Amino acid sequence: MIDQEMKQAVLDGFAKEFGDNEGVKCYFAPGRVNLIGEHTDYNGGHVFPCALTIGTYAAARKRDDRVMRFVSLNFDGSRRETSLDDLVPNDPKAGWTNYPKGVVWAFEKRGMKLETGFDMVIIGNIPNGSGLSSSASLEVLTGFALRDMYGFDVPNQELALIGQDAENNFNGCNCGIMDQFASAMGKKDNAIFLDTADLSFEYAPIHLDGMKIVVTNTNKKHKLTDSQYNARRSACEHALSQMQTVCDIKGLGDLSIEEFEAHKDVITDDDERVKARHAVYENQRTLDAVAALKAGDLEKFGQLMNASHVSLRDDYDVTGIELDTLAETAWKVDGVIGSRMTGGGFGGCTVSIVKDDAIENFKEQVGKAYKDKIGYDCTFYIVSIGDGPRVIE
Ligand code: ADP
Ligand code: MG
Repeated sequence: MIDQEMKQAVLDGFAKEFGDNEGVKCYFAPGRVNLIGEHTDYNGGHVFPCALTIGTYAAARKRDDRVMRFVSLNFDGSRRETSLDDLVPNDPKAGWTNYPKGVVWAFEKRGMKLETGFDMVIIGNIPNGSGLSSSASLEVLTGFALRDMYGFDVPNQELALIGQDAENNFNGCNCGIMDQFASAMGKKDNAIFLDTADLSFEYAPIHLDGMKIVVTNTNKKHKLTDSQYNARRSACEHALSQMQTVCDIKGLGDLSIEEFEAHKDVITDDDERVKARHAVYENQRTLDAVAALKAGDLEKFGQLMNASHVSLRDDYDVTGIELDTLAETAWKVDGVIGSRMTGGGFGGCTVSIVKDDAIENFKEQVGKAYKDKIGYDCTFYIVSIGDGPRVIE
């Protein structure tokens, strides 16, 4: 139902902006929520995200010249016109279109040249900038649409790598592979247990009988996400280089807790040692959480979610008062299985698993505590786990 409404919105938008709808196709790619395994993906560790039923929709059509025109129905004044001869990274004038342009650039870099440009109208139903990866959904959406329109032979997993390339090298955010992988490889009612060291993965069914996944948005406006994110990544890389002088490892994710504790003193900087500790312990928590889920022990899964938040708060230092207020209040509410920040941090959202009969109480208590402490409202979304990118017929 939502799919058809959104399809109609992009088709109407397309006709209004570009004259008619002749030969236009519609596409969708999901956002994602990460259940556990945060800031482990660029450390070669494990993550456990799932694609959502919300994401970004596009209507697109090839042109017969080299022009590319983009419109987002989510923003006024979003229209941008550019060309295949103008793929300049991080162009401030390009605004949001640096994401789709970056994807075109990453295709061309891999030898998949577009002969002609295209027109594209998008609309998202995912709150953007909130840690649910609207940017990855936009990248995977663009890649999926290009594959379909131009007939490129590229599997979904490669669409994830292309999206990450666009985000890292065209948009300047050094994110790991998790977001794009979750969007490109999503499967209804399953989370993806991914080893980012070699991209091996398995789907894990999520049966939440009598429970829901609740995402709570801090609605925090000013974030320094990219610079802070890149700083954490650099700290881990430096810690890794020192660990590699004593251990034969490719990433911090290769270290067991015992190995880390035995050798951690080679990391000379106190702060970097603590950041590395998060990466190692969070990786282990992710392995333990998936094992607990498989054993049907949701209580343990929830405790590991809470411990993840504590580590992100105390060791990795990426939470802040808004996310802490949400998670710490949630922990005290009866019927909450677990609650933690999700995504990069510094604002954005928490993810909580909440029993059905506790959801109203959860919203009331968390909403009130947040408003009292922070001064404005948070927003709640009950989310469902959906499939990866697709054509909307
Ligand atoms: P997140 O990926 O967590 O949502 P980011 O800051 O990484 O947050 O990405 C948000 C950015 O992605 C927006 O500022 C915008 O540039 C782009 N974006 C995402 N969805 C849309 C959309 N529907 N229309 C236009 N731009 C979008
Ligand atoms: Mg993003």
